[in-house]
Formats: sequence, structure tokens, C-alpha cells
Amino acid sequence: MGLLLPLPRFDQIHGRKILNAGAGLRPPFLILANPMNKLTIDALDLRGKRVFIRVDFNVPLKDGVVTDDTRIRETLPTLRLAIQMGGRLVLASHLGRPKGGPDPKYSLLPAAKKLEELLDKPVQFAGDCVGADAEAKSRSLADGGILVLENVRFHPQEEKNDEAFSKQLAALCDGLFVCDAFGSAHRAHASVVGITRFVQQAAAGKLMQKELEYLGKALTNPARPFVAILGGAKVSDKIEVIENLMKIADAMLIGGAMAYTFLKAQGLPVGKSLVEEDKLELAARLLAEAKQRNFRLLLPSDHVVAPEFKAGAPATICGVAETPAEQMGLDIGPKSIVAYAAEIAKAKTIVWNGPMGVFEMPAFAKGTLEVAKAVAAATAAGAVSIVGGGDSVAAVHQSGVADKISHISTGGGASLEFLGGRKLPGVEALTNI
Ligand code: AMP
Repeated sequence: MGLLLPLPRFDQIHGRKILNAGAGLRPPFLILANPMNKLTIDALDLRGKRVFIRVDFNVPLKDGVVTDDTRIRETLPTLRLAIQMGGRLVLASHLGRPKGGPDPKYSLLPAAKKLEELLDKPVQFAGDCVGADAEAKSRSLADGGILVLENVRFHPQEEKNDEAFSKQLAALCDGLFVCDAFGSAHRAHASVVGITRFVQQAAAGKLMQKELEYLGKALTNPARPFVAILGGAKVSDKIEVIENLMKIADAMLIGGAMAYTFLKAQGLPVGKSLVEEDKLELAARLLAEAKQRNFRLLLPSDHVVAPEFKAGAPATICGVAETPAEQMGLDIGPKSIVAYAAEIAKAKTIVWNGPMGVFEMPAFAKGTLEVAKAVAAATAAGAVSIVGGGDSVAAVHQSGVADKISHISTGGGASLEFLGGRKLPGVEALTNI
């Protein structure tokens, strides 16, 4: 959903006219695709120009072959648009965590080959992301041509956001930068942030735009009720998200191991469940705050327990007040599933990050899979649902409802920081409109 904002004349800012933008509305209005007021790729004039596109091709590889091309596919709308606009595409990404130098294990060549296959179009490759070869190859591109650069993390300057290195990267384009790597936007690295200082225009790509649109709207103008579902292993990883979303959402459902820190803080027995002792005080404060503000902070009322963290361990169901000392909670129980599903069914905005239990083990997967189904059902009934974080994303795939979710975020860490209310350096660095 776009925002309708009065803006200065776009053609004055960017030297070109926006077709149909704000037709019939005076002064000129522009339908903003994201609520961040950042320049987007659609507004660039790419014809005949080299554009540096930071993508996230951090894909899993096995024996030099891409085993999951989701991240490459996610950038295709941006790449196809840039090709259609007649741009000359110079693509950069990181892959894995090479230790300060070139390592063939982390080469982007397999990703370049996969891209060639997906686009059904030749893709060139430069064996270094900076230097004479990359520059010559970028200059030989025809309109709509594509060059993939080798892993930017083969240079330690990338993660240091080094100025000279950023400048070298910028030399590979004609003043135009597009960032489509939402998953890297929380990192102030050279190919994400540094480079923007040496280009004329830095715009969000389609994927970045979609992420900002969904996450941004949830934080700034959510349809209500807004239900946040948080789970996973640790409270400590999600403190900022809990605190921020408690200010914005109408209800919060907590599951996974992190529920036990809250349950213990309430004085309930948790047996051998995972508890972060050093976060008990924080949990007690959040519970008190929720109570005082009448905020709906829901914890499991029952759970699936077992004597050990092991697939095949004998599982039983009990109320959270009756947890035996020698057992640990590994999934939310049936009553909690019903209560959480009822809350989700009422929602008009849903943000979910983190599994409700050890969903990797079938005996403890039900809570997570049922929540996935409830989120899909609410979406079918008109809610906007956003799922982020590797495990919850895996869970929506596992339960077969991934195509029913409004938005599956591609950036686990970045989406958590964004939901925690932090500004993402990779977004901040884009040109304001
Ligand atoms: P996170 O990376 O923080 O989202 O945590 C995800 C991990 O939390 C998954 O691997 C789950 O197996 C694990 N997890 C979820 N619930 C529990 C639980 N009750 N006890 C232990 N681990 C859990």
C-alpha cells in the first residue's frame, strides 16, 4: 500500500519526468511505494549507463553448484527491470565468510552461472570485484548486459567500509547505485554503504522496496489488530524487538524456549527448560509493563515436555504450572495452540519471527506448524502477514503455506533490527526523496 504525499517536482530533482505520477493531482503527488522516502529504481534513468547493483547472492553451495537459488530468484524483478530500462548491470554480493582474502570455496561464479540460467541470457564474470579487469569488463557491457563481480568479502576493506575501496567499487558504474540486498542492509559495509558516497543516485531495488514497504508499514501504519508472534531460542536476541513491538502491536504471542524466561519470571516451575537467568529481571519488567498498560502479552498455558532435548525422547503434555522438575518444555501445547490461533484469526497485521518449539524434531513441531497454518488462514481472511527469520521461514515452507504468506522477509538479522526500531545503515545511505 502506498502513501500519498505532496512532493517537490520529481523532474526537478531527478532531471526526468515520472509518467502518470499524480496525474490530475496538483501540486504533483507521487504514490510512494515505500514509507521510507527513499529513491527507488523506477525513478532512475539507466539507459546506456553502468549501474552498480548490490544484490544478496549469499546462496548455499555444494561442490561448486548452487543448492538453493531462492536469493537469486528474489532479485530477478530488479534485474529484469534494469535490463528493460537499458542499463548496463554490474552486480556485486558477498558469499559466506571468507577469512580476509580470496577463497575459491566462496566464489560467486556458481551464482553467476545460475543467474545466466535463470535469465536465459549471457552473464559475464570478473574474477576480482575491483581493478582493471572488472573496470574493462564493465566498460564493454552493452545496454542490458550483465557483469557479476567476484565476492566483495575477498577484500577485508569491504567489511571495514573502507573509503578507497568504496571509491574503487563506485568506479565500476556511472554514478548509479541500486541496493537490493535487504539481508545486508544492517551492515555498514563498503558495497552497501561506503559506495553511496561516490555515486550521484543511490536507490532501492524492487526487493528492498518490498521489504521496506511491508516492514515499514507494520511499524508505522499497521492495520489493526496487529499481532506479533515471537519465538526461538533466546530472549536476548529479541529484546529490542519485544520492547519495540510492545509499543506498536496490539498483542504479542510468545513461544519457543524464550517463553521459559518469562514463565520463570512469573514464578512458575520450568523444570530443565532453557532459561536465560540473566534476563529474568528484564522479563519481569516487561511482564509488569504489559500488565500495567493492559497489553496482551500471551505466554503458553500448556506445553509438550520431554526428559531430554532429543528426537524420540518420550513426550507428554502438561500445564505450565505443572512442569515436572526433570522435564523440559520443547513445544507449546494444544491449549496454547488454540489460544494463539484465536488471537491470530482476529489479526489484520501479523509479524512472526521465531519457532514455537524445536520444530526440527517431529514430536515438537506441531505448535510451530499450527501457528504457520493459522497465519496463512488469517492472511486468506484479509490480514497482512510478514514472516522473517530462517526457522519461521523454514516452518511456513514445511507446513506448505509459504505461498499464502503476504511477505516472507529475506533478511533475518536485518528484519530483526528493523523491527527492533533500529535504522538500517544500508537504507539510511540511500538517496532521500
Ligand atoms: P532462534 O534462532 O533464536 O530463532 O531460535 C531457533 C531455535 O530455537 C530452533 O533451532 C529451535 O529448535 C529452538 N527452540 C525453539 N523452542 C525451543 C525450546 N522450547 N527449547 C529449546 N530450543 C528451542
